Amino acid sequence: MRLRSVFIIALLAATAFAQSAADLVIVNADIRTMDRSLPRAEALAVTGNKIAAVGSNAAIRKLIGPKTNVVDASGRLLLPGFNDAHVHFMAIGNKFSSIDLSGFGSTADIVRELEYYVRFLPKRRWILGGRWRFELWQNGERPDRKLIDAATPNNPVLIYNSEPSTALVNSVALGLAGITKLTKDPQGGEIVRGPDDEPTGLLKGKAIDLVSRLVPENHTRNWKEIAETATNYAASLGVTSVQDVHSDDLLAVYRDLESQGKLKTRVYDCVSLSDWAKTRRAFDIGNGSLARQGCVKSFTEGDDEWTPTLKADVLAADKAGVQVAVHAIGTRPNEIIAGVYDDIVRTNGPRDRRFRAEHAERPNDETLRKYAELGVIASVQPYLFTSGLSGAYRRMSDANVRLAFGSDAPMTEFDPMFAIFASGTLSLEEGVRAYTLGSAYAEFQETVKGTISKGKLADFVILSDNFFEPAPKRAARPFVLLTVVDGEVVYEHSSFKHVDVVRRFVYGFAAR
Ligand SMILES: [Zn+2]
Repeated sequence: MRLRSVFIIALLAATAFAQSAADLVIVNADIRTMDRSLPRAEALAVTGNKIAAVGSNAAIRKLIGPKTNVVDASGRLLLPGFNDAHVHFMAIGNKFSSIDLSGFGSTADIVRELEYYVRFLPKRRWILGGRWRFELWQNGERPDRKLIDAATPNNPVLIYNSEPSTALVNSVALGLAGITKLTKDPQGGEIVRGPDDEPTGLLKGKAIDLVSRLVPENHTRNWKEIAETATNYAASLGVTSVQDVHSDDLLAVYRDLESQGKLKTRVYDCVSLSDWAKTRRAFDIGNGSLARQGCVKSFTEGDDEWTPTLKADVLAADKAGVQVAVHAIGTRPNEIIAGVYDDIVRTNGPRDRRFRAEHAERPNDETLRKYAELGVIASVQPYLFTSGLSGAYRRMSDANVRLAFGSDAPMTEFDPMFAIFASGTLSLEEGVRAYTLGSAYAEFQETVKGTISKGKLADFVILSDNFFEPAPKRAARPFVLLTVVDGEVVYEHSSFKHVDVVRRFVYGFAAR
């Protein structure tokens, strides 16, 4: 035993350099940390899933070892990963369950749209929908699977014509259906063939059934595939955390995806208040998992008759230590929520409970005063509503109400840039802060994420354009070049490929 300890100490000494070296280093970035103790930096280092150091290029370069991946950000903007405080995550994924090609004017557009879908869909998931028009094919061309095969090598495609008695399928779908040049036309249908007798992928009438019968019945309820789609999409937009306010209990689905290494988003999954009252199993802090539960949500439409029921349920949930979020759109619903929350604080006594008002649309000054006093978080969606433009978020902020930003996608765009640019009288920095640290606070996670700080989780994004720079340098809307979640690169934009070169040649060492 003694000998073994000596050996271990010797080994540790020999590998001291490798131990202090980071796994991932970003240099030459314009880092806006959202951390007031060090607002700006040039570089950061990641070890494991945490930020190991933040500072100058010179200081951070010292942490580069032979195995460190190094990304040169070329002066671009680096921010904490966005945390969308109000989404319907499965509905976002489900938007990709069907494709709408009716608005497209050329076959090239169709191919581009299919390529876009394939970026997010799990392999083998069906691409359905369609409504393409024959006019797209010009100069004597005919609809043919050859057009869509290259874009869809791993996903079966079944896309209907605007006239649904005709559909185009790709080679993957033909293969699954076992349709070859020997397959006979079914009664009432036609497998359209090319000059070589090979099926072109165009199917008519009953021939479509040969493929459509293979589509899984649960296509729009296959939560695992849909969640995988949603998390891939989130990564592409730099959304590293979501707070799923949809009422379904989907923790098991997210955990399942995580166990396969496919979850790229931290998920705070809320269940409905009434479900909680029935099952009492809304609280699961995660223990290191990317997915956790701990909130319940409800609505008020401003109906006073229902308020006592709401109050009784919120009281019970709050007593059990669960976080409560209630939708409040309109002056009266906000007033009711403030009243309910006020009563519950009086009854259950003070604690760090972080009640939330979802949307928090049009609260009056008296309600804002109460929200501030009770510590109620205004979980707002600047792009869905116009409150930012009218100065409402400035009023909230001035009243010391904590703001968390979100999208309410798929009601509106999931891309956080829309909300940040719609935050009106708030500065861009305040918008980013609300979409990162503000949202982290709204889910009790501000000590572990939401800023670029030493010891916090390595969740961050590099953007195409630095919108903190004066306007002339800015593109219309910045997009995400690189997304890191839990220390892993989960998304890299194709235009950012020059970074790979930097990675492969880490200051003379070949990175492995
Ligand atoms: Zn919503």
